[in-house]
Amino acid sequence: MINKQDIRSLGEEALIALFAQIGEPSFRAKQVHEWLWQKGVRQFEQMTNLPKTTRKKLEARFEIRSLVIVAQQVSLDGTAKLGFRVFDNETVEGVLIPKGERMTACISSQVGCSLNCKFCATALLPRKRNLDFFEIYDQVVLLNQLALEMYGVPLSNIVFMGMGEPMLNYINVKRSIEMISSPLGLGMSPKRITVSTVGIWKMIRRMADDALRVNLAISLHAPTNEKRGAIMPINETNGLDEVIDALAYWYEKTGTRPTHEYVMLQGVNDNLDDAKLLADICKRVPSKVNLIEYNPTGDGLFERSSGNRTMAFKRELERLGVIANVRKSRGRDIDAACGQLANKSGLSGQDR
Ligand code: SAH
Repeated sequence: MINKQDIRSLGEEALIALFAQIGEPSFRAKQVHEWLWQKGVRQFEQMTNLPKTTRKKLEARFEIRSLVIVAQQVSLDGTAKLGFRVFDNETVEGVLIPKGERMTACISSQVGCSLNCKFCATALLPRKRNLDFFEIYDQVVLLNQLALEMYGVPLSNIVFMGMGEPMLNYINVKRSIEMISSPLGLGMSPKRITVSTVGIWKMIRRMADDALRVNLAISLHAPTNEKRGAIMPINETNGLDEVIDALAYWYEKTGTRPTHEYVMLQGVNDNLDDAKLLADICKRVPSKVNLIEYNPTGDGLFERSSGNRTMAFKRELERLGVIANVRKSRGRDIDAACGQLANKSGLSGQDR
């Protein structure tokens, strides 16, 4: 069977044009838009204020390719991981992270990943395809529902830190952010959204030009090209100088400081000289540092830096005037922590 087009790929204007074309009044297009984006319905028949004939017309031409939850695990610390099936039977994962007042959704932007960072489990999955913007949006809707069910509060923050590289699927990421923050969508402030990138410098500049008003996190992980290149192959084509210049451009355009993510790998990037070099980078662009606890991925290649080493690294950064926080790992017992998303929740092939 040939797949029909997802009606959500039409923006509001295209929807209005379509309604004119099929001889329906434009206010109906607005109603459909509301059902799709604000009320998140999954079937045309749920659009109860539309005449049956209109629903049938839509059904004949379109479908709604909603994500389906096929796995759910809850960690001892309250973190929950969802496995989502997309229309072509691939799966991606999203994570709900409750912490104090914050209720954060961590969402994926691609099926698999092409970056091959040596310390990340998602690197084991081949990159299959980009997620469509409504597939990214759906993850937010479903994680928001889960937040309400489990904790009685809606999402407060969204981070693009799940599977995939957002800046290699920029158009869809941008469109999803626009819908998430639109009053015609979820109406969440873009200030509550963080896009994390491995450092595709061209796209960082593009995002600065597009004035998306989100927060930017950069997976830095090492302060020299030599060390970074050894653990992140992308550094070969997106070297530190270009990335830092792009971050400076981001800061100049948006006035918001980027955050450097820095996974602490014992004996690899965690000595005090590394901290000094990292502080030098922070002098080139006003920025903050998040020191991330390494989550084992099962290959034994790396070890987490000890608590003492991490604290010494943090203190050195602070001594040099840099704001640094240590990010404790969450959801590790269910492979939901940073770098652990690898579709291991028993999902594979068609038999889900
Ligand atoms: N591709 C984007 C989005 C992924 S975000 C990016 O690279 O930023 C996931 C974050 O977790 C990144 O900072 C990533 O480098 C980090 N990470 C990957 N593997 C990890 C691991 N094993 N332990 C801790 N953090 C890890």
